[in-house]
Amino acid sequence: MRWKKDNVYAFTVAHLIAGLAFFPWFFSWTGVVLCVAGMYIFGVLGINLCYHRLLTHRGFSCPLWCEHTLAILGVCSAQYSPPHWVALHRRHHQFADQEKDPHSPLAGFFWAHMGWLLVIEDMETKSLIEQYAKDIVRNPLYAWIERRKKLEPARVSLPYVRYQSIADTFRIVHVAWQITLQHAIFN
Ligand SMILES: [Zn+2]
Repeated sequence: MRWKKDNVYAFTVAHLIAGLAFFPWFFSWTGVVLCVAGMYIFGVLGINLCYHRLLTHRGFSCPLWCEHTLAILGVCSAQYSPPHWVALHRRHHQFADQEKDPHSPLAGFFWAHMGWLLVIEDMETKSLIEQYAKDIVRNPLYAWIERRKKLEPARVSLPYVRYQSIADTFRIVHVAWQITLQHAIFN
């Protein structure tokens, strides 16, 4: 098992910073309001609506400018590029709850929640995208975002800077993963 060091560091730092929200001098009601707004804008519109329903399952269609705007909101949630997320999720549906499911609950609750993000995947990202998200990576904007994934720390920091809420990204990511997990366990 090989650790995905950048994710391990990012998660550790993000959780340590998020913990500051429990100290009164870091707390503000504006932060709480912006946190809820951020969950909706980045989590619901960016990930649930765009990455999941629109890009992965093509459950509906909309003008390209609208799709791109929603996809950029998804990128701000720091859950990989659109091609990478779509490829992982389509592989999940192909092998739902089986061994080859990237976040299979067979490997335990922690693995299905976040453990799978901490180790190098069994498939190399390029071939994963090639196999599952060819249609997505054909889009020049999504291909450009995927090529610049080394900018991940900048993407992670974006919601922090914009909304001054240290719990913001933390909560979006947890809610989204919780939904993914429920999806895996109860569907
Ligand atoms: Zn799905």
